[in-house]
Amino acid sequence: MDQVRSEAHEQLLAKIRAGLADTRRRTALYVGTEGGRESAEKAYAQFPESQDLLREARRIKREAIDRLDENLQSFIRNARSSGTIVHLAPDAATAISIVIDLVRVAGATRIVKAKSMTSEEIDLRQHLEAAGFDVVETDLGERIVQLAKQRPSHMVAPAIHMSVEEVTDLFSKNLGREIPPDPAQITAVARESLREDFLNADVGITGANFAIADSGAILLVTNEGNARLVTALPRMTITMFGVEKIIASTTDAFTLMQPLIMSGAGRRLTSYVTLMRGGSKLAQNGQQQEHHVVLLDNGRSRMRADHEFREALYCLRCGACSDICPTFRIFGGHVFGHIYTGPIGIPWTEYTATPDDAGKFAPLCIACGLCQEACPVDIDIPLLIARVKERYTESHGQTSINRTLCSYETFVSLASVMAPLSNFMLRRQIFRHVLQSLIGIDARRPFPKFTRHTFKKWFRPHLGNASRTVAYFVDTFADMCEPEIGKAVVGILEANDCKVILPEQIGSGIPAFLYGDVKRTTQAAAFNVRHLADAVRNGCEIISSEPTATYCLRELYPRLLGSPDANLVAAHSHDLFEYLLELQRGGSLKVARPKTSIEPAVYYAPCHTRSVYGTSPSFQVLRYAGLDLQTVRYSTCCGIAGTFGFKVGVEGYDVSMAVGETLFTRLKAMNRNLIITESSVCKMQIEHGTSLRVLHPATVLWKIYQADRAE
Ligand code: SF4
Ligand code: SF4
Repeated sequence: MDQVRSEAHEQLLAKIRAGLADTRRRTALYVGTEGGRESAEKAYAQFPESQDLLREARRIKREAIDRLDENLQSFIRNARSSGTIVHLAPDAATAISIVIDLVRVAGATRIVKAKSMTSEEIDLRQHLEAAGFDVVETDLGERIVQLAKQRPSHMVAPAIHMSVEEVTDLFSKNLGREIPPDPAQITAVARESLREDFLNADVGITGANFAIADSGAILLVTNEGNARLVTALPRMTITMFGVEKIIASTTDAFTLMQPLIMSGAGRRLTSYVTLMRGGSKLAQNGQQQEHHVVLLDNGRSRMRADHEFREALYCLRCGACSDICPTFRIFGGHVFGHIYTGPIGIPWTEYTATPDDAGKFAPLCIACGLCQEACPVDIDIPLLIARVKERYTESHGQTSINRTLCSYETFVSLASVMAPLSNFMLRRQIFRHVLQSLIGIDARRPFPKFTRHTFKKWFRPHLGNASRTVAYFVDTFADMCEPEIGKAVVGILEANDCKVILPEQIGSGIPAFLYGDVKRTTQAAAFNVRHLADAVRNGCEIISSEPTATYCLRELYPRLLGSPDANLVAAHSHDLFEYLLELQRGGSLKVARPKTSIEPAVYYAPCHTRSVYGTSPSFQVLRYAGLDLQTVRYSTCCGIAGTFGFKVGVEGYDVSMAVGETLFTRLKAMNRNLIITESSVCKMQIEHGTSLRVLHPATVLWKIYQADRAE
């Protein structure tokens, strides 16, 4: 690790330390992001065709970016024909000087602004203020952060990190009178003071949600109606946006608007949709308004030329990826962000700022995969972030603990060979403290129990003839820590007339992915795909029992390898319980009924189950089998995130426990002693955080089968 990374690392740790200690901010962030997530889920639940809509949204954005050159020319031509003056800004400095020149020539003093991440990207307000202009942010959240002299901490809710009391203090000081700590009254006061600004402004500046190529129109979506006043009243209006906002048609804009509103505002419909073409005819004194468009590139063309990062340009700026991100929910955008905040902020920073700016906060991503699940246009944000980490490591080296943990699968193999000595050592506090000092593994984090009697040593194909043959892709935990899981998987499959084979395979490579060693993960992917593809060609379906293994086979490997074999394996890979559900739907699931020995339980869906399936097949199968099973309501990660929660203190352990805190409280409050989850690391984290017993659903189901047979 070089000096640059070392300093950036220390600065990040200091911010993490401060963020963990700031309970007021954490509460505000939790309430805001949880509310955002829940309202988005409700909005989608009312819309049965949402999957078709989301597929269509991605198609529209993909085509818009593919045909950007053509759409750009069409937009410019049509905007000019409506009287709009169009300016092209290849970079931030050009955009700033265009805007400053325009407002100077207009003889403006007061400028009103609507929320625009593009203007944040180039610090437009700060540059205008430095040039002597009076600039007023008119979106309530933006106004709050302007008064607080801060940056937005969330793309959609800029002041999400602030409590009502903090906002009350700000407005009271700004207006010189006491304001009651009541959101409705704060809003009324802000509206009253902004009204005068709208009426007296010379220039209005907005961004754009969409720019429409075939008409030259701009579409703006707001909750507060401020953008409509900013665009309608001043004698000049400037619309500045990135070129990626250009889409082909009004129909496309209205299609994209729906997921933007549902994911961003948690509603079917927003309060204000403004479609403008040319300047307003209602501006001050009934004059025809002068309308300028500033089209900003600032790294977008380079992003578009990068075949992987290109899809980051599909972003609708809904903020849903931030609301679901476990670490963003703790720290907010002032820690988890540069100017663009949250998960998508990392790849955007890579191109609109610098790779070093992106690499500094990329370690906050713990690779849970949830942001992709939440993204309405299905951007593979986790892979883009891993690439940012990879490039940063190539430039500035790796931290020693990350380098060690990239080889996690090798250490597990070693601990397995050395068991039971390794278990004896790893249970001694003194040895754990040595590991903490020498390697950076937190002494408070319990290790799983390793065994030398591995699943792979135990395994033999048991059935000569069966209706189907399946190949088991076994994870390192089920192989070397808890072979009972693997044995249960084989038992259940054989009970359902499946012959199980074990093709040649190695660990998934996912631990290295977390720390940006994408090459190592790709090598593991290539090895596994080569052998599993042969099994598929021989008529097998692939079964895994660990959500991360399924995620690798179905989502990650095809993206890393881009090969026909990887796609073949992905198309034939299943979580065990998804496979059982398919058997059930086909009427061939041999299901056993639970005996009284299986106590009522709570099911927790791991991140990678949610990111692959959205729902949980194991919950459905266990309920179908008659188990008394409830599910815990929790929309983010348990916190351990593979090996992340093993790292010492604020590097990992402290953050992982903070992320899991609410989950632990909720699980304990459900008053059931058994938790069921299919992820090995979630099991470790929940056992550690709650002291409750945690079982894999395969071992539970296998117990039911065994009890059935014993009768
Ligand atoms: S993968 Fe998980 S931790 Fe990483 S940015 Fe996405 S939601 Fe956040
Ligand atoms: S990446 Fe996806 S979820 Fe995140 S802000 Fe963009 S569109 Fe929304």
